[in-house]
Amino acid sequence: MSERHRKRLVAGNWKMNGVSTDLNVIRHIADAAHDAPHSVEIVLCLPTTLLARAAQMLPVVDRLQLGGQDCHAERSGAFTGDVSADMLSDSGASHVIVGHSERRAGYRETDEMVRAKADAALSISLIPIICVGESLQDREAGKAAEVVTAQIRGSVPASADAGAIVIAYEPVWAIGTGRSATLDDIAAMHGTIRETLIQHLNGGADARILYGGSVKPGNAGEILRVEAVDGVLVGGASLTVHEFSPIIEAAATLARQVAC
Ligand code: PEP
Repeated sequence: MSERHRKRLVAGNWKMNGVSTDLNVIRHIADAAHDAPHSVEIVLCLPTTLLARAAQMLPVVDRLQLGGQDCHAERSGAFTGDVSADMLSDSGASHVIVGHSERRAGYRETDEMVRAKADAALSISLIPIICVGESLQDREAGKAAEVVTAQIRGSVPASADAGAIVIAYEPVWAIGTGRSATLDDIAAMHGTIRETLIQHLNGGADARILYGGSVKPGNAGEILRVEAVDGVLVGGASLTVHEFSPIIEAAATLARQVAC
């Protein structure tokens, strides 16, 4: 599959934000997604408490797909407070974020744990969005590529169908800071990730690689135009329609230009 055959993906991550009054925002985001070409996928990763309600509110097949933000590696059992991939799928999710840096740091999730979660998702056809990214310390020490390569090798199940996984490259220092990586740095790291995926997986050229970290309406277009970028994972700017819809539109515009 050539670069151009990978569908662009715009994913939002609401983190621990959103209550029932925000269902209205989800409805408006679904409206914004409605006119995007089918070569662009749009996913909103919601808090678990909103997932089933959002799924019930949207048409069964909608341009806006829903996702969770984490899942347990086991399918069920005595894990108080946790949520399984099966539960997310049952609630209407098609995707799940695993290994977000906030979970790697805050809950000491290792590559092995992230891989087990990705495996759990894949086992029930839920698409894992597997997050990787270096810290500022790693980058300043010149170790960014080494760290991210090791995270890919450790977190991505080697038996995965590459087309059924998504990687999100999110430099930790760019998340929620307003400081995005440069386009050259994004291109270079996506190239490194692609090479690693090709070595690590059958058909590694088919996996999509997103960039995340302070993506906003003002920089989404230029980031999406980087050849090696298949889409974006958006935190803060996915919380409002006025910020998320221009990002969806930037991907839609690019897809329409490519189709011409
Ligand atoms: C994220 O949480 O995955 C993220 C990229 O956040 P932000 O866009 O706010 O930097």
